[in-house]
Amino acid sequence: MPKILPLLLILLFFNSTTSFADGKKVQKIVLDAGHGGNEPGALGRISKEKDLALSITLKLGKKLEQHYKSRQIIYTRKTDVFVELPDRHKIANKAEANLFVSVHVNSSAGKRVKVQDGYRYVKKNGKTYKYPRYKYYNTTSANGTECYVLGLHRNSQKEKSIGEYSDNLTNEPGLLDESDPMTQIIIAQYSQAFLSSSVSLATFIQQQFNTQGRLDRGVKQKGLEVLAGCVMPGVLVEIGFINNPEEEKYLNSEKGQSEIVEAIYKGILSYIDSVEN
Ligand SMILES: [Zn+2]
Repeated sequence: MPKILPLLLILLFFNSTTSFADGKKVQKIVLDAGHGGNEPGALGRISKEKDLALSITLKLGKKLEQHYKSRQIIYTRKTDVFVELPDRHKIANKAEANLFVSVHVNSSAGKRVKVQDGYRYVKKNGKTYKYPRYKYYNTTSANGTECYVLGLHRNSQKEKSIGEYSDNLTNEPGLLDESDPMTQIIIAQYSQAFLSSSVSLATFIQQQFNTQGRLDRGVKQKGLEVLAGCVMPGVLVEIGFINNPEEEKYLNSEKGQSEIVEAIYKGILSYIDSVEN
């Protein structure tokens, strides 16, 4: 085969599928509420990460459904159940989604504090003794939001997932042959394109939080399983610190939740506008 042919194939391939590679046409958006069921995630004094993540995710989904009538919003969970991490990206990959947004609540080591939350009564020799009852919490003054995109050290898993679901990426099933070194180049290109789209979405979301006056902790990279397996751009949003008592109150308030939903919602809209226009 003349050497020019594989190169030509790659060029043709990228011509016909660049819309996917740089995230044009976001038809399906997956919303992933972190944790759930018997995995509560981070714990606060009055709430659990799994419940906050679900509440925000459902409200965000409703807003997106109302705005984008012709686009599909897919949920990894809509109730208080635990979904394994590989099942979360399987849901997204099988649906051939174009965007993956995971919602989590932050927690930091902080310091241990003792809070009296009532009394306990002990009966001894017919007498009742009253003692203070304490609860222990890890509290922090850390606050604000951050967005994670996939760290490069998990790139090989990303490329493997892209290989497995390569039929999602092209209209011609079987075009990507994993044993062909050229295919590896194409897969690497996809991985790059997904990462830069993810950074762009994360930046839009952080900008929104920033205009609301929340502390912008930035866009960060981490080797997160839930992002590594997704064959599409994806971000994980940490909406605030559950073990900062003040921020926990905000996260549980009507006002806090609607602001957080608004920030992620506007971030997604800005991202979609930027790739489709
Ligand atoms: Zn989490």
